[in-house]
Amino acid sequence: MAAKAKKKAAVIEAPIGERYEELKRMLTERQREIMNEVQGKIRDVRAEGADKDHEVLDPGETSEVDIQEDIEFALIQMKAETLNKINEALARLEEGTYGNCFECGEEIAQPRLRALPFAVRCKDCEEAREMAQQRERIQARRGSASLGFDMRG
Ligand SMILES: [Zn+2]
Repeated sequence: MAAKAKKKAAVIEAPIGERYEELKRMLTERQREIMNEVQGKIRDVRAEGADKDHEVLDPGETSEVDIQEDIEFALIQMKAETLNKINEALARLEEGTYGNCFECGEEIAQPRLRALPFAVRCKDCEEAREMAQQRERIQARRGSASLGFDMRG
């Protein structure tokens, strides 16, 4: 029986540089994506605006176009805010503070950051926080209930 090399342990500690590169790539990719979308949307709005100068629309149609433009504008604004957040995240990455949990200081897992690039807590701390909040809510409800009982005397 030929001795095959044992499988290496699946968990390999990634060097700091690699994580930094990966996070940076993730953030800049998202940044580029959103910038393209925003530029595309601005072009669309401009094109529609240009069309409107030539066409004479019914009042009903005009207001529909206006509503559509408002929605587009709100979307662009939302994306601009996301871009600001990405810029902040990139600045924090340069400082070495991005991707670490605010509560315990541990590195936040990359899949979590991919799904939630602006997460400030690791999964454990976020869950603990949610549970604490839930307990507080239940206690607040119990507190007001017992207050009701006290008042009956
Ligand atoms: Zn944590």
